[in-house]
Amino acid sequence: MTSVHVDVAAYAIGSLDRDDADDFVGHLDNCPTCPAELEWLSQIVHLMTTTMYAYSEAS
Ligand SMILES: [Zn+2]
Repeated sequence: MTSVHVDVAAYAIGSLDRDDADDFVGHLDNCPTCPAELEWLSQIVHLMTTTMYAYSEAS
């Protein structure tokens, strides 16, 4: 159960497999810290994705 916290970043970038992603989503409902961390990481991932897209468009 403790190792599920580690999956936040992996979930944010979409690298968890189906079972692990399901476990993590279930964990989000019961965790006081992961939802906020996921929100923060999701913003970072979105920023990175849009920046990389803009960069590839420019070159
Ligand atoms: Zn957690």
